[in-house]
Amino acid sequence: MTENFIVKKIMIVEDNPVNQKVMQKLVKIFGHDSLVVDDGFKVVETAKSYQPDLILMDIQLVGISGIEVTRNVKEDPELKSIPVIAVTASATTEDREKIVRESKCNDYLAKPFAPKELSNVMSQFFAVKDVEF
Ligand code: MN
Repeated sequence: MTENFIVKKIMIVEDNPVNQKVMQKLVKIFGHDSLVVDDGFKVVETAKSYQPDLILMDIQLVGISGIEVTRNVKEDPELKSIPVIAVTASATTEDREKIVRESKCNDYLAKPFAPKELSNVMSQFFAVKDVEF
């Protein structure tokens, strides 16, 4: 796996500084690059310049819901093929299913999550370095 490992670009949409650091650190450990965007209104524009291979999308953002931001990404012809993972603290399965349905995200990850859960969700789309925690 190490021979053919391809470094991917992960866009982390997250407004909490602690979560930003944790997620950036984990993505790096998994072998990939990342860019943090803390403003939901800047996601579409930033995605067009950064061209991420995957977006981790916090649902609870300031001033705009991650659901709406995800929908904007999924309705943009240039961006719609980028996998979006909703990251949400919403408690029930029903809540999460609603988020998936309304946002058209590709999958979701419940907060708080274990590192292995993040690597599992990412590895559906590309190789992730295997790390023991
Ligand atoms: Mn948030």
